[in-house]
Amino acid sequence: MSNKIKNRKIVLAKRPVGKPKTENFRLEEDSVPVPKEGEVLCKTIYLSLDPYMRGRMNDSKSYTAPVKINEVMTGGTVGQVLESRNPIFQEGDIVYGYGGWQEFWSLKANDLRKIDSELAPITTATGVLGMPGVTAYTGLLNIGKPQTGETIVVSAASGAVGSVVGQIARIKGARAVGIAGSPEKCKFVKEELGFDGCVNHKGPDFPEALKNACPKGIDVYFENVSGKVFETVLPMLNDFARIPVCGLIALYNATELPPGPNLTPLLMRDILVKRLTFRGFIVWDFAAQEKEALTELAKWISEGKLHYHEDIIAGLENAPEAFMGLLEGKNFGKLVIQVSS
Ligand code: NDP
Repeated sequence: MSNKIKNRKIVLAKRPVGKPKTENFRLEEDSVPVPKEGEVLCKTIYLSLDPYMRGRMNDSKSYTAPVKINEVMTGGTVGQVLESRNPIFQEGDIVYGYGGWQEFWSLKANDLRKIDSELAPITTATGVLGMPGVTAYTGLLNIGKPQTGETIVVSAASGAVGSVVGQIARIKGARAVGIAGSPEKCKFVKEELGFDGCVNHKGPDFPEALKNACPKGIDVYFENVSGKVFETVLPMLNDFARIPVCGLIALYNATELPPGPNLTPLLMRDILVKRLTFRGFIVWDFAAQEKEALTELAKWISEGKLHYHEDIIAGLENAPEAFMGLLEGKNFGKLVIQVSS
């Protein structure tokens, strides 16, 4: 590759306190990486933006290491192979890997997954046929265990994970009720995704509306947000309800505990009296089911039973602003940056 071609990348300039701002990111130019033996050099076509990236910006103990200052921001990427030093991949192949917020990346073949562009548009490898889809499938079926006739509630229902959770619940014979952040998102969740109901958590009558949407209470609550939404759902949970704790996006920018009484004793009382099952999970806890999940999800798409919506923004330089918007609900569906054509 010509020396004149540079690799534009976005690095973590400064750790955010509270909401990330433009100053936390920096666009840089670097040389294009040279693949080592066994590696594959790729050009990014799509960069996936996901809520977990906010956690990686903090220097705190979590389930995985933080991004270092001046290091390229982490992220899943769909790319095209430019040069392969591994026999499994050929020039021109479309692959998925954690290339990060940059135009070119070189990874070991083991860290790449080949994408079948005949199966579905390649953007879906970042969403419904990728990590978010597998999260929805494994979290709901292993922990939520929806049964016919039960009521499943999912927050961030128009998003990458939530949209799939509700549709799988319906495929399994349950009633699906979404919670989303605007009337437009709720309309989409009901009319395009086929949920039985959807309630706007920003509406003035949110608790009343959720109660009306769930006349028999809630048997499974798939938690994506926490905060006020969780506090509203908790009293509506039925005996033996299951709560897959997938994400807590309402807390990701918090710098301290909210003011007010300590509600832990009430939560513990509900867990005991209603015999609730809470289980946190990270998608790779169910890594052994990834292939099964992707096969099922692709089948449901081809049968017209599973729909998805993508929010595609052009230009790597627009990734920071799009990511900041994701943490405030400005995205509509799976958020993807188109880095090149
Ligand atoms: P989404 O595409 O759903 O985008 C995030 C959505 O969260 C926003 O659109 C917004 O929807 C909602 N949101 C943002 N801020 C708030 C807030 N303060 N209160 C309530 N809702 C808010 O993202 P994903 O589907 O990719 O992720 C959903 C959740 O799943 C996240 O918490 C994420 O961290 C988690 N996750 C966990 C994984 C795991 O392995 N455990 C793997 C993948 C994702 P709205 O406008 O409707 O409020």
